Amino acid sequence: MVNVVAKGITKIYKSRKKEVVALDNVSIDIRSGESFGILGPSGAGKTTFMRIIAGLDIPTRGELYFNDELVAVSGKLVVPPEDRNIGMVFQTWALYPNMTAYDNIAFPLRSLRMNKDEERKRINEVSDILGIAHVLNHYPRELSGGQQQRVALARALVKNPSILLLDEPFSNLDARIRDSARALVRRIQNELKITTITVSHDPADIFSIAERAGVIVHGKLVQVDKPSAIYSNPVTVEVARLIGDLVELSGRVEERNNKVYAVVDDFTFPISKVTAGDVRLGIRLEDLKISDEASLGDEWVLVGKARVKVSSYSSGLFRVTVVPPSNDNTEIVAMMDRPFDVGKEVNLFVRSGKVLVFS
Ligand code: ADP
Ligand code: MG
Repeated sequence: MVNVVAKGITKIYKSRKKEVVALDNVSIDIRSGESFGILGPSGAGKTTFMRIIAGLDIPTRGELYFNDELVAVSGKLVVPPEDRNIGMVFQTWALYPNMTAYDNIAFPLRSLRMNKDEERKRINEVSDILGIAHVLNHYPRELSGGQQQRVALARALVKNPSILLLDEPFSNLDARIRDSARALVRRIQNELKITTITVSHDPADIFSIAERAGVIVHGKLVQVDKPSAIYSNPVTVEVARLIGDLVELSGRVEERNNKVYAVVDDFTFPISKVTAGDVRLGIRLEDLKISDEASLGDEWVLVGKARVKVSSYSSGLFRVTVVPPSNDNTEIVAMMDRPFDVGKEVNLFVRSGKVLVFS
């Protein structure tokens, strides 16, 4: 197994007069056998990072090591892609349409001049693990999306790679089978203990697969942590947004009775960080609640009185937008299990300790 170390990797694409900084000084240490996720919006540099690891692209600056071996350095490919022992699944799966599933999976082995029995044994093994043994003589067009993806995965795994790279591997799947596909990848990664890097714009992929994750924004790696820690303690509001729905507000820090609050119009949000002046607040929708009651127990803190502006429906829950009495433009959304009448006066609560503060 291999650990992947990037040191100050920068990738600049030059076209005509324009320069695009696709990666900006990225340093990262991905442990041997780890399932690592990289989350970032479209255009952040995720595919560029994968291509550099695979050896399909060369870093403009910086160094890339597998274990202690230098594989690429500032504009120079030290180890070519065919010698990196990497399996890769692309977003589109890139299966050869004129080859059967069997031949697609066999393709990476052909350069090894393996004997046919050995080849068949290897392909059967990996097909059994992935549950595609019964469709090996089918062409890609005769396979479901889920089966095509598993063929692509089998092709990536057939050479026993030391590193598995998955670039948006689930975005082409129907939403209803994405979870089982994620579970399959997670199980295989866990069984084979292969160093795996999954990049995606979808936090659901990262949460289901990665033990640790990095967040890339505009080519910069801005945070590395466990997915749950990134969720609860995002370093910036951009990271917070990437990882889930968020109510964003601007507030003024005030101290009242030895407690610190962020004041937003008539609302007072309890905060723990003592930062003077103006702050930016972020609150997950699930950490907000409205009620007719004056108290909801220790877990919930009263923020103030609010008026219901809109009540709409979204995947099993009601999205209720409320505003403070004095400002119709300060909209706060809570996900509730019942609708509320528009115009109604309610109490707004926030879950204790869940107000994110950004300076
Ligand atoms: P992501 O995979 O996160 O969507 P990419 O790594 O594909 O992002 O792209 C990062 C940036 O680099 C984008 O601005 C993209 O347009 C640019 N880019 C990627 N590949 C090339 C290339 N071959 N030539 C010029 N610009 C490129
Ligand atoms: Mg990409």
